Amino acid sequence: MIMSLEFELPLFSLIFILMLGIVYFFKKKVPLIENKMYNTIIVASLVAASVDTFIHLVSAYCTLEELNSTYFAMIDFLNRVIATMFVLIFSCLFAYTLIISYKKFKNNYKKVVMAITLFTALFFVITCFTHVEIIEVGTVRNVVGATISMGYAVVAILIALNIVFTLINFKKDKRYYAIFIILVMLIILYTLSLVFKGLIIYDVIMALLCYIMYFTIEDPDIKMIEELNIARDSAEKANAAKTDFLSNMSHEIRTPLNAIVGFSNLLLEDKDVPDKAKDEVRDIVMASDNLLEIVNGILDISKIEAGKLEIISNEYSTKKMLDELVSLCHGRLGEKPIELRTNFAPDLPPVLYGDASRIKQICVNILTNAIKYTKEGWIEFKISVVKKDNICRLIISVEDTGIGIKEQNIDKLFNKFERLDLEENITIEGTGLGLAITKKLVDLMHGKIVVQSVFGKGSKFTVCIDQRIVENPTIKLETEKNVDKVKVTNKKVLLVDDNKINLKVAEKLLDSYGIEVESVESGFACLEKVNEGNKYDLIMLDDMMPKMSGVETLKKLKDIPGFDIKTIALTANALTGMREKYLSDGFDDYLAKPINKDELNKIINKYLNDD
Ligand code: ADP
Repeated sequence: MIMSLEFELPLFSLIFILMLGIVYFFKKKVPLIENKMYNTIIVASLVAASVDTFIHLVSAYCTLEELNSTYFAMIDFLNRVIATMFVLIFSCLFAYTLIISYKKFKNNYKKVVMAITLFTALFFVITCFTHVEIIEVGTVRNVVGATISMGYAVVAILIALNIVFTLINFKKDKRYYAIFIILVMLIILYTLSLVFKGLIIYDVIMALLCYIMYFTIEDPDIKMIEELNIARDSAEKANAAKTDFLSNMSHEIRTPLNAIVGFSNLLLEDKDVPDKAKDEVRDIVMASDNLLEIVNGILDISKIEAGKLEIISNEYSTKKMLDELVSLCHGRLGEKPIELRTNFAPDLPPVLYGDASRIKQICVNILTNAIKYTKEGWIEFKISVVKKDNICRLIISVEDTGIGIKEQNIDKLFNKFERLDLEENITIEGTGLGLAITKKLVDLMHGKIVVQSVFGKGSKFTVCIDQRIVENPTIKLETEKNVDKVKVTNKKVLLVDDNKINLKVAEKLLDSYGIEVESVESGFACLEKVNEGNKYDLIMLDDMMPKMSGVETLKKLKDIPGFDIKTIALTANALTGMREKYLSDGFDDYLAKPINKDELNKIINKYLNDD
């Protein structure tokens, strides 16, 4: 028995490549072009190592004469196959470098495959005309001859070219470091095998190539993570772009809506407009209110999704909030034959600390749904409380005798844009955003929302939210009632807005109170007017103006010595929570566009009423 490294090295190399191949091919991978090159390298290495192991096994049990006479034709052919596989492997490695370096090669992948196939086939054909000779080096048999020399020469050229391209692109990508190291190691092994003819290490070279590539540049796990990162980044970018688009668009829609709402409200008050026309104007007001609600919903959901929605806590009067909610419900109920029952806990603390506008929004959403999805019967709006130390748990429930919700649909309720039983509810307007926003708001406030419903009978939505009890409130407790339209005399208002139509709407609205209005179109003009010494009783300042925003203008106004005019932020940036932002920016009050006439009335009553 010949004890040499004649077949052991090829055999071990084969086993190692086989193990790697099994791991690699069964692993979940990202489909990349360069992977295909690596696939080919593994397969070609497997073929070469198997063939080589076979040759050396046969050779280990035969004498040189037996080999040369009996098996020569077979061994001769198989050696050409091995040489060809070597050329294929190094062509693929070179193509790998080209593909990761140049888009041109990546995009023309099919042509690259074709070129490699033709090149390898041509090499094989040429080897058929050259000769192979088996030699004995000590106890080990090796092959020499023109075929083998040609194989060495072609591989040397491919490695050299590969090194050139790797060096050119070295700085581009860290993968080139790995390729460079692989190439250097291959050159060392390659030189060793050239110098020591008794060392059978072709297969070791291939196994090493496969392993180093696997653990450096071809690790499927790393690639998967990289790809997932890229996918996540681009999904996040796309989502952010969508959010930006939605909120910009919603803002753009509010501006023309301001004109529609403002002018139609003026028409409603105009004595010269006939009653029939007024009915239609009322429809316009209602339609634009609906549109406004949709736009606000989109703004809210996009803000929540962008993670930009904050809970802004302040002291608030519970009575004021409930009064507003009840009066809003009465407004929305209109002529519907539904009884609104209210049941508020008598021990509800008068002042709580939390985000009143968001709690109100949650209540408005579920109350509006109850009204929308109930034809007749009653709706109960109930608030009970559980107090512990200074925390008050609000248990808000809205129960209705409406159409109810099928059990299988309850889970879908809080998905955005999800509307149930569309065929039956086709006449009821909605976007499917209300409950999605409600759920997110409740989550943001660490609360809970529960739905109970019997299809055809009615539904009950219950929300639990904890709020802090305020023992010594700093806010005034009297509720602001809707006041009748006040008449004011000798008052002058400075209006600042870059949009001419918005100015016209506000001018007309203020004019109906008998207020003298002066309009300017920029923060600069506003500062100029005040600096000139003009006297105003109120300044209404739009925020989103080019070059100098309302907030910046206000800062400059406050720097003017002796400036004491009340300022109102007038803006289409009407997300819930904006009032608090503008008040903290230094404005005395806030009015959202489209201007709501009751809100305007309150402001005028507060700041311009003679009494
Ligand atoms: P929408 O704008 O459609 O009202 P929501 O997110 O507020 O959107 O509600 C989602 C769906 O849940 C509605 O389309 C409706 O099918 C159902 N729904 C909500 N509240 C009720 C209710 N009180 N009674 C019956 N169905 C309701």
